[in-house]
Formats: sequence, structure tokens, C-alpha cells
Amino acid sequence: MSETRYDFAIVGAGMAGASLAAELSPHASVLMIEAEDQPGYHATGRSAAFWDECYGGPDVVPLTLASGAFLREHDLLTQRGALHIARAQDSAKVDRFLAEFSGTGATIERLDRGEMIKKLPGLREEWIEAVWEPACCDIDVGALHALYLARAKAGGAKLAVRARITQAGHKGDCWQLRSADGREFLASTLINAAGAWADELADIAGCGKLGITPYRRTVAQLRTNPAPSQTQPLVLDISGHFYFKPESGRLWLSPHDEEPSPACDAAPEELAVAAAIDRLQQVVRLDVERVETKWAGLRSFAPDRLPVYGTDARDTDFFWFAGQGGFGIQTAPAAAQLAASILLNQPMPAPLAGIDPKKYSPRRFG
Ligand SMILES: Cc1cc2nc3c(=O)[nH]c(=O)nc-3n(C[C@H](O)[C@H](O)[C@H](O)COP(=O)(O)OP(=O)(O)OC[C@H]3O[C@@H](n4cnc5c(N)ncnc54)[C@H](O)[C@@H]3O)c2cc1C
Repeated sequence: MSETRYDFAIVGAGMAGASLAAELSPHASVLMIEAEDQPGYHATGRSAAFWDECYGGPDVVPLTLASGAFLREHDLLTQRGALHIARAQDSAKVDRFLAEFSGTGATIERLDRGEMIKKLPGLREEWIEAVWEPACCDIDVGALHALYLARAKAGGAKLAVRARITQAGHKGDCWQLRSADGREFLASTLINAAGAWADELADIAGCGKLGITPYRRTVAQLRTNPAPSQTQPLVLDISGHFYFKPESGRLWLSPHDEEPSPACDAAPEELAVAAAIDRLQQVVRLDVERVETKWAGLRSFAPDRLPVYGTDARDTDFFWFAGQGGFGIQTAPAAAQLAASILLNQPMPAPLAGIDPKKYSPRRFG
């Protein structure tokens, strides 16, 4: 039985839990509790690893932009560019995209086919215009996660692995948490960074669920002929039916699937990979020689698809750090700073100037 009482127990040591532990640990005692053998096994270890200013919608842009400086400072971004491609029938979607993101601070421009073909040789004729995001980058996700875990450790945070929390209740003025294998942990504040399990954890702790739903997303690594050039952009369908990008001479391809799923160790479905390849072949002329590997992960969204950062409406010792959807890597630095300033009751740091934390508060659900 543990006698140590931590200021903060963070359940989940993926990107969310690790980044927040790194921000909190210089100021408070922190314990990260992770169900798996090692942190990063679930969504964090399965991402497509891009930082795209517009991904996630206009209300996510401020978090993505505010994270850029930290990621650049630590040399974690590599220039790529993103091309949101459209056919004649998608023209209104291009207009909508440009209108939706104008004034958000994201850099976007309309490209015609002549400019598109320079960026993506082999593009089929029906793709005639695009929105271009020059600032889009690849993120070194493993290095970012490792950096946060190292910073948390340097700040004195502890990490318990193979500890799935199955019970959580108040004991006097602190939380008493129990893992499936019988370990017990004490903390003043319980932080929910449980990714796809966020609602389940809230339920265990006696707080209401918020309707955070996991959705499966599939990615396949393809060997193609010709092989993609490493300078090729991330290519996304403006209608949201695929994206692909080069990765070390191979192509990473997703059908942009979004299948509701229970929280689990997600596995890729053959059909999703087949659909993705079919869509790819309608975009570019190339032969798919082999599916070298494929994987799936869960992206977890609140009902309004914005992240949930803040103190629970009913239990002020329960803090939500969940619902990071498809943008939890690219927004991690800003999200962790925002959450830490709320938890430590400190002013928000300069990179977050202009961000309204109320927009992301769980209290918006009433
Ligand atoms: C295919 C795919 C592509 C993506 N591409 C991108 C991208 O290009 N850019 C981007 O920014 N984002 C991307 N994302 C989203 C990003 O990966 C997630 O938003 C982010 O990883 C979420 O981090 P997390 O820490 O909340 O979740 P996770 O990494 O899933 O971590 C949650 C952890 O909580 C643990 N846990 C849960 N319940 C308990 C419990 N009861 N006790 C103890 N531990 C528990 C789990 O074991 C898990 O390790 C992608 C996601 C997927 C699936």
C-alpha cells in the first residue's frame, strides 16, 4: 500500500499525460499512471505525425499555432506542405475551406492545376484545384514524447506502468486509486489523460461521462512504383476521404476512416486499407507493389469535436485532459501549458496569449 500522497495523479502517459506531467512536475509532486508496459502504446504511437495548421478546425488553430514555437525550438518539425485537393464538383468546398480559415492565422492559398502538378507529379486530370498550406510539417512524435517523459522525470515525476486504474474514490480530502493488480495510489487531484478511456475513467471516479467517443483511423505503409519523392507534400482530399504522404521512400496512406469503436487496442481492417488504395489510385498514377505494414488507432472526440481541458463541473478535484481527436500531437505543447496554468493557478504563458480556455472547458457541456 502506497503512503505517498501526490499533488497530481495523471492517468494515462501518452502524449497528453506526459506533456502535462512535464509542465507540472517542476512545481508539484506528480505521478503518471499507465495501464500498458510502456507509455505511448495507444493513439500516441500510431499517429500520422503531421503538424497542419488547419487540421481539427478553426477553433483548434490557436492551439496548433501556439505549439509551433516549442516544436521548432526543439527541432521536432520538418517542412512538408499540405495540399487539400479538389475536383470540379468540390469547388464550393474550396471556397468554404478558404472562408472558414481566413483570419485564423493559418497560411492558406488557392492553387490551380498548373501549380498542383508541380508539387504532385502524376496527379490525375480531374483534380483541378487545391488549398495549399505551406507551413505544414512532419513532427518527430517519438522524440516529442520522449522529451516530455524525460522532462517529467527530471522534474521529479514518477511513472507507474502496468497499472490499469479500475477503482477511484475520495478518501477524506484525497483520491484513493486502485489498479487492477491491487496497487494503491493517493493524490489530491486526479487528472484524466486516458485518451479513448476518458469517459470510462470519469465513470469509475464517479464523475459523469461527457460523451467522448473513440473512432478508429487506419494507416497503411505502401511500397509504390514510382516511389514517392521525399519532398512531396501531405495530400488530403478536400472532401475528407483520404490523405497520404511520403515516409522514408514509402507512402503512408489513410482512408480518413472514422469508425466508432469501444476503447481497445485498435487493429486495422482489410476493407479500410483496400478502400484507401482504391481512392489513391483515383488520384495519382502509380502501382501499389506491397502493403508493407498497416495499423489503426483511436482518435477520441467530445461531441463538439473540441478538446476538453479543465476542472469537472461537479468534482473540482477531477481534471479533464481529453478529447484530443486527430490533433493531440500537434497541439500538445500549448494544451499542456494551458492545463498546467489552470491547475497551478498561474497566468497563462506568453505563447498562449489570446487563447480563451473557456472554449475548451468541460463546463461548456452544462
Ligand atoms: C491513425 C492516427 C493518426 C493520427 N495522426 C495525427 C497527426 O498527424 N497529428 C496529430 O497531432 N495527431 C494525430 N493523431 C491524434 C493523436 O495521436 C492523439 O490525439 C494523441 O495521441 C492523444 O494522446 P493521448 O495521450 O490523449 O492518448 P493515448 O496516446 O491513447 O494515451 C492514453 C493512455 O491512457 C492509458 N489509460 C487509459 N485508461 C487507463 C486506466 N484506467 N489506467 C491507466 N492507464 C490508462 C492508455 O493505456 C494510454 O496509453 C492521430 C491519431 C491516429 C489514431
